[in-house]
Amino acid sequence: MLGPVLLAAAGSERVRRLVSSTPLTRPVVDRFIAGEELSDALDATTVLLARGLTVTLDRLGESVTDPARASRNRDGYLALVDELAAAGLAERAELSVKLSAFGQALPDGHDIAHRNVARVVAAASDAGTAVTLDMEDHRTTDSTLAIHRELRAAHPETGAVLQSYLFRSEDDARALAAAGARVRLVKGAYREPPEVAFQRKTEVDLAYVRCLRTLMAGAGHPMVATHDPRLVAVAEELAKRAGRPSDGYEFQMLFGIRDAEQRRLAAQGHRVRVYVPYGTDWYGYFMRRLAERPANLAFFARSLATR
Ligand code: FAD
Repeated sequence: MLGPVLLAAAGSERVRRLVSSTPLTRPVVDRFIAGEELSDALDATTVLLARGLTVTLDRLGESVTDPARASRNRDGYLALVDELAAAGLAERAELSVKLSAFGQALPDGHDIAHRNVARVVAAASDAGTAVTLDMEDHRTTDSTLAIHRELRAAHPETGAVLQSYLFRSEDDARALAAAGARVRLVKGAYREPPEVAFQRKTEVDLAYVRCLRTLMAGAGHPMVATHDPRLVAVAEELAKRAGRPSDGYEFQMLFGIRDAEQRRLAAQGHRVRVYVPYGTDWYGYFMRRLAERPANLAFFARSLATR
């Protein structure tokens, strides 16, 4: 029951100010984000690469309501690409972007976000890396998938994300699998109404397996993004049945979650990519991580109580 409350709070400016202004939040936030500076993200990347993992970097930001901010977010990503290239990390570290950070929710937001992300995708491609478009709430799905389709014309390596909790995702998985795309499959992290999304965990998990089956049997590169041990095992089995080589799909997990499992899979020869968020705009990301797991909230509450 706590999950929906926390997801509602994730969109509240008042709660954001309250949570962000208390220094007591910091130790818990640090579990989930690499730090506030680009240099923190590069340090975390270097450590993860040395463990045999690969990385996708998220410069935190979302729900931008002013065009200047959207441009600043784009420029932040362009600076990140430059730094990755200069540090020689671009081959094993790619980027994840949220189109709402690039202005998708503004009037004419589809075009603004498209223009902004196209510059980042082109710069990433020149540097030898790639971009995946994170998926946000269901009102953005059509716009995000349309931008993904257009970006792929020049940069076919650009990745998309499908959320198994949405009813539409099985159809989207069929279309993207046929198109040979890189597709990250997740369960979904936003609060969605029963008109568009499964509400029960079992239904979301079963839908995940159906989408995964389609992606594994298709022509693309599935990116299996989950910490769920049962789904990891299902993915291993489906990849084997589809005859996929170990570089024909990958596992993805979030920074700070199930580190030992990340290393175990990599040691077995799987490709494992860790999603590394960094930056000052961590509130929405942090609240979604709390909502996913009540134990995180207990940890947060304990850290407040023991101060
Ligand atoms: P769950 O059933 O939630 O968790 C399975 C187990 O994993 C839990 O029992 C626990 O042991 C562990 N676990 C899961 N979450 C946590 C946590 N927060 N803290 C500690 N332990 C945890 N969602 C989107 O909507 N759009 C995106 O673009 C997107 N990108 C993602 C990228 C990556 C690489 C990953 C891994 C997730 C992404 N998500 C995204 C989030 C996703 O939708 C889920 O909310 C999240 O992964 C939790 O679901 P789960 O599959 O891990 O399964």
